Amino acid sequence: MLERAALEDVIRFHGHYCPGVMIGYRAALGALDLLGVERAQDEELVAICETEACGLDAVQVLTGCTMGKGNLILRDWGKQVFSFGRRADGRFLRLALRFGATDDPALADLPEAERRRLTAARMETMPLEELFDVRWIEAPLPEPARIFRSVRCAVCGEGVMEARARLRDGQPICPACAGPEYTRLA
Ligand SMILES: [Zn+2]
Ligand SMILES: [Zn+2]
Repeated sequence: MLERAALEDVIRFHGHYCPGVMIGYRAALGALDLLGVERAQDEELVAICETEACGLDAVQVLTGCTMGKGNLILRDWGKQVFSFGRRADGRFLRLALRFGATDDPALADLPEAERRRLTAARMETMPLEELFDVRWIEAPLPEPARIFRSVRCAVCGEGVMEARARLRDGQPICPACAGPEYTRLA
């Protein structure tokens, strides 16, 4: 079964089976289904993830929206919210985990590992709408990823993407050489 194979890919990539990765798994498969698209080869699909937790790995494996390709945008807001946009027509779908949806009081007294495994298993088959608040949203799609040229840092001599460099005395400096203040602001 396709979904079983997809889950195995996700677990292989993520390293373990957990409730967190299942959140991303369900959000990603649900979005592909509702948007009627396949895994993105290029940038035809864009994802905005509001968490840097386990689910992010499932989104990358299943949707083809990846950090390296630039069609995955991470907003580190600590929210289990995943939005997916289709470039062809700008349709944008937002899935927000319902608060408490993954809790099952019947599992509360089990040892941690067992509770997590059973919670993840239960999430595999929960109706999508029970797990997430799913809605179509109006939002501008992020710009496609751009390719920036590299400049040479005047301090360390290493290359740095022009858009990440800052100027000091008219010379480009990389974030590492510019110091922690710049890194924090970036
Ligand atoms: Zn995990
Ligand atoms: Zn440098």
